Amino acid sequence: MRTSTNNTDVRRVNRNRVFRFINHTKETCMSEISSALEISGPTVMSIVKELKEAGVIREVGEYESTGGRKAKAIASVKDFQYTIGVDITLNHVGLVYTDLSEEALAHRRIPKPFRNDKQYIEEIADIVEQFVEENDVPQERILGMGVSLPAIIDQTRQMIPNSHVLGYYDVPCEEWISRMPYPCVVMNDASAAALAEVAGEKRQESMVYLLLSNSVGGAVFLRPENKNGDEEGNASSSRVYMHEGDHWRSSEFGHMTLYPGGEPCYCGKKGCVDVYCSAKKLAELENGKLERFFEKLEEGEPEYRDVWDRYLDYLAVTVDNLRMAFDCDVVLGGYVGSFIGPYIKELRSRLAALDIFDHDGSYARACRYQKEASALGAALYQMEEYISSI
Ligand SMILES: [Zn+2]
Repeated sequence: MRTSTNNTDVRRVNRNRVFRFINHTKETCMSEISSALEISGPTVMSIVKELKEAGVIREVGEYESTGGRKAKAIASVKDFQYTIGVDITLNHVGLVYTDLSEEALAHRRIPKPFRNDKQYIEEIADIVEQFVEENDVPQERILGMGVSLPAIIDQTRQMIPNSHVLGYYDVPCEEWISRMPYPCVVMNDASAAALAEVAGEKRQESMVYLLLSNSVGGAVFLRPENKNGDEEGNASSSRVYMHEGDHWRSSEFGHMTLYPGGEPCYCGKKGCVDVYCSAKKLAELENGKLERFFEKLEEGEPEYRDVWDRYLDYLAVTVDNLRMAFDCDVVLGGYVGSFIGPYIKELRSRLAALDIFDHDGSYARACRYQKEASALGAALYQMEEYISSI
């Protein structure tokens, strides 16, 4: 019995690997899949047949022959399913939609101050429907949607126990889910942004995502333990998983103490990472406009250079602490993450000086998704569930 269970599992895992491989390439053929994934030709052939029957892949032409039969070119049917993502912040609503490509196909950001009432949630539902209409997304192919909030989300009890940012306490997720026009999940904004970062990755490696927006948060993705593949010797197809913590409060990096007895934090403690590393620390010099801060920094304004140097010093200690705790790459996301690209070397040289093992800071990098990462991640949650089920 055990052997047959294993065979079924291997078959399911291989089917998913084949689909993901096809989905990650523009087009491919069976021999390419077979050699890339080290799965036998006949197995690939039967999986491809199944996926074609399921409608998730199709033939898109033939490759030039070098003698013998021409190989069929196959590709995934990207528009087979769609999902929508919504990001709620204190002053804005962000929207994104995606398909099997897992890219943001369109995004929109609307100024809309948050209100703690049911009417507000209904207005968000209307905005989602407008967005779907404007972009001609076929309703019958919308799998579902996600809403990201700057809040702790207790997924077991389906509750939002608190959001300091929104002043929102003990709200059932159902308040949102029941009013949205499509099957909906509610997520933490930092977890959503981090999901956008890992979803499209071919290589699934552990990763810490540090969200540097008007508050500091993040997420930790860990690689499952079976590093060397399953019992059949196949490379593992297992995806990284998010470490959520016993109380859904993992990765509250903003409230790690960076400076004992330091400046007061909105959480009530002193010297939290949030006080020194939030985007506000920089944007406050320009009435909240972070973009202006970076323009002045680039222009070489000495005061801005000093503030930035101090900011990088604090950020480096935070990132080094995360590296010491998790021993994996650290991705810098959020508002600051989208501007840090040109300055990553400055951060890395600080990290190299702090690194007791390799004297190397190259494990830190800027995020790939700079616009509407939380909205995209909220859309990707259900898309990833769907792709995992293929
Ligand atoms: Zn704090």
